[in-house]
Amino acid sequence: MPSNAAIEHRSDSATDDLLSDTVELLQELVRAACVNDGTEASGHEVRGVRVLLRFFDEEIESGRLDAQVLESAPGRASLIVRLRGSDSDDPSVPALGLLGHLDVVPASPERWQRDPFGGELVDGEIWGRGTVDMLYLTAVFAAVLREAARSGQLLRGDLVLLAVADEEAGGEYGLKWLLREHPEVVRVSEALSETGGMRLGAHVAIDVAEKGSAGRRLVVRGIPGHASIPFGAESAAVRAGVVLQRLAQVEPGIELGELWRPFVAARIADASLAERLLDPVRVDGALAELGGIAGYAHAISRVTIAPTVLRAGSSHNVIPDEAHIDLDIRTLPGTSDTQVDALLREMLADQAEQVEIQHLKGWPATASPAEHPLFAAVCRSITETDGSPVVPVMAAGGSDARLFRMAGVPAFGFGLLSAEWSYERYRERIHAHNERIDVASVELTLRAARSVVAQRLS
Ligand SMILES: [Zn+2]
Repeated sequence: MPSNAAIEHRSDSATDDLLSDTVELLQELVRAACVNDGTEASGHEVRGVRVLLRFFDEEIESGRLDAQVLESAPGRASLIVRLRGSDSDDPSVPALGLLGHLDVVPASPERWQRDPFGGELVDGEIWGRGTVDMLYLTAVFAAVLREAARSGQLLRGDLVLLAVADEEAGGEYGLKWLLREHPEVVRVSEALSETGGMRLGAHVAIDVAEKGSAGRRLVVRGIPGHASIPFGAESAAVRAGVVLQRLAQVEPGIELGELWRPFVAARIADASLAERLLDPVRVDGALAELGGIAGYAHAISRVTIAPTVLRAGSSHNVIPDEAHIDLDIRTLPGTSDTQVDALLREMLADQAEQVEIQHLKGWPATASPAEHPLFAAVCRSITETDGSPVVPVMAAGGSDARLFRMAGVPAFGFGLLSAEWSYERYRERIHAHNERIDVASVELTLRAARSVVAQRLS
């Protein structure tokens, strides 16, 4: 067990104990190595569930916490731990879900400076796959739930930890399955989850929305023939090339939604640059001046289309009659499937007739209102903890929070990372080699989460 010396010097002793327990829990969750490669046989989140069951041992034993382990497939377990509130049966009192996933994406150990599943604490940083995405938060959520159960102070509504499987592959074996098969067990009326806590200028960013995914497969047909006599044949591969070029030449239009202005106000100090960014005509010209945040700014200001998979032909000597181009398309709140198809046809112009558009699996963009009382509570907790104002943001990617929003449950990101965690750095660190988080960020997040819970006391 690595020493926790790095955190021993901190002041408040109750926080010290809770923090060192949280760090230890995080280390154990990393070592559980619940690697999800997208297949049913991967993940083994039951290992993470066992770590948490040990963490909650006394409280479950004494009946202060109610725990349920639910398995969607062998090894694909999720743990739901509920602390009942004093007004648990009153539907007007919100039940707060703390949604954390247990699974992590694969890591290539040979590219890491340390064991990705060692959970080592070195110079004030905990190393390992999943430390940032999102085991540190799962650990913090578990710690504040256990503290609330131990304190004996009653919360008005239920406080529920949902430590789930399979977030990294879309939640089929995790929250999606739980919402479908065990809705009463996972019942909450509002939720906190990833992503949040990154610094946008002087502000702390908290997700209130996520882009959707509307993948499409473009099927391009040609006239096959023997490759030794190509005359008269029309290669689907060549036609696909023309279609791809067309997609590279045009871009979906800019749509500056309601989260754009707060983003610019928080992140852009230069007044003239900010003014251009707020002008739909000049915004693209200004993107190049945004450095590391340009890609994110580009992504949240429009529907994006990225060709990712290209397939044509199966034999070297046959001119292919069919080619497939898979497009990763990310939508904005309000973008419909019909609009995506119409947009593609418009972009393809005269090539549209050559192409059949098929729908791949996707999900809608989702947003929760920033006027919601839970978001206000998050803002208070962060401002109270380190004085920073909060800016609501939209994630370019997706998380399990969307599943709650789709089920009508408002969901927000959470987290409070230390000052060096710019939005750019956060994007660089997750799913990357040498993923690690500083103890200072775990402590800040812990303090903010405690403040959210304290606001629930009856
Ligand atoms: Zn995650």
